[in-house]
Amino acid sequence: MDSTAEGPGSDLPPPANRLPGTDGHRLIRMKQAPGRFYRSGEISAQEAYMDIVRGARTAVIVGAGVAGLTVAIALARKGWRVDVAEIDPRGATAGWGLCLTGPSLRALDALGLADACLAEGYGMNIITHVEVNGRTADEVRLPRLLGAHRPAMVGIARPGLHRILSEEAERSGVVVRNGLTVTAVNEEGDLVRVRLSDGTIQTATLVVGADGIRSSVRSLAGLETALDYHGQMAWRALVPRPAWVTGIHQFAGKVNTAGIVPISPGQAYVFLTENGVEPGALPDAELAPRLRQLLEVFPGRVAEIRPLVSESESVVRRPVRTALLAGAWSRGNCVVIGDAAHAPAPQMASGAALAIEDGVVLAQELERHEQVRAGLEAFTARRAKRCRTLVETSVTIIGLEQARRHHDAYPLTDACHRQMAEPA
Ligand SMILES: Cc1cc2nc3c(=O)[nH]c(=O)nc-3n(C[C@H](O)[C@H](O)[C@H](O)COP(=O)(O)OP(=O)(O)OC[C@H]3O[C@@H](n4cnc5c(N)ncnc54)[C@H](O)[C@@H]3O)c2cc1C
Repeated sequence: MDSTAEGPGSDLPPPANRLPGTDGHRLIRMKQAPGRFYRSGEISAQEAYMDIVRGARTAVIVGAGVAGLTVAIALARKGWRVDVAEIDPRGATAGWGLCLTGPSLRALDALGLADACLAEGYGMNIITHVEVNGRTADEVRLPRLLGAHRPAMVGIARPGLHRILSEEAERSGVVVRNGLTVTAVNEEGDLVRVRLSDGTIQTATLVVGADGIRSSVRSLAGLETALDYHGQMAWRALVPRPAWVTGIHQFAGKVNTAGIVPISPGQAYVFLTENGVEPGALPDAELAPRLRQLLEVFPGRVAEIRPLVSESESVVRRPVRTALLAGAWSRGNCVVIGDAAHAPAPQMASGAALAIEDGVVLAQELERHEQVRAGLEAFTARRAKRCRTLVETSVTIIGLEQARRHHDAYPLTDACHRQMAEPA
């Protein structure tokens, strides 16, 4: 990809870390503490020593979210040398909790991490849909993809999942640097050269944009897609887990939809999708009172949940947006994965599942193909239909919720979960 944010062509200096006549499998690595990125213009025989790595492929991953850490672990396990650049200086995660459905757990299990997530979170098997009048409408029993002795899904605190993935990445030899991003990406034969925000230049076999729905790598690679807003704001609040909350409970309302998901024996998160609002921020102090007000109109057990929403610091509110790359997900040796390629609405609770699967499948396809580009094409071909189905189904469910056709949404949700249970 010749075009960068800085205009067509490259303003990057000539490569300093590659032997003339070598390919992406034989690189000279300039070791430089604490990370493995090379500062352009600072390389000298006295300051650095060169380590010729034969047979090693190198990857720069942009974004240390679910997709970025998963692909970093999967590639490192297959012998890649992996550097991750994360823009957040604290490497923090946003939001309180999420549900890892069967496909997430299956992909995590392929990396040996499912049991750690099950131990960290709260295992569940059933989604209970409750009607506007407070009566149970439907119970969806999700397939147990890890076998009868392990639950179908797990509710987990986002920081807990992030810690499990970060620690495993570190154990696998991945170097994660926070407060860093990529500002230019240039194709260079069989390699990719990137400029990082601290002025560092790196040449790698592969660049992976795992930088979320507003991906910069997607733009730098010239892969454009629209972000769609669907007239919904998603609320989440951390609350103590009521004893009866042992699975996901979702309550249809006259205008909005609410629910609760356990994430540990002591904690749960309340969710609410607010319809017919323009995206925009509310002052922090108004969050908890406003969420309690929105929950007031629901009958039945929501009345028990409402008083648990007590602290504004434990409440977040975000616009529901979706994105889907219609064509290629890669350009040259640069690819985008996770929300950067396909961001569904939260209704199917499966965006992280797709992101984790992407990481595992990408490493598999790169292992199968000698040429990185062929591996990237095979990866996209394997993933595109599945991800499109999920994103489009999540958008259809939003429409059904907004039309108050909850009864049509339940079987669609069920059918889509069953389709996602098929191998990734
Ligand atoms: C309200 C809500 C609820 C959800 N609930 C669920 C659920 O229950 N189950 C589920 O499976 N999914 C759920 N999802 C979807 C899920 O959160 C996402 O699909 C998933 O987080 C995508 O992972 P990702 O790694 O691709 O992107 P992200 O999680 O967005 O991670 C991207 C990372 O890249 C970093 N980054 C961004 N820009 C740059 C840059 N320029 N340079 C370097 N780093 C950068 C970010 O700081 C972040 O660390 C929910 C989403 C929302 C909005």
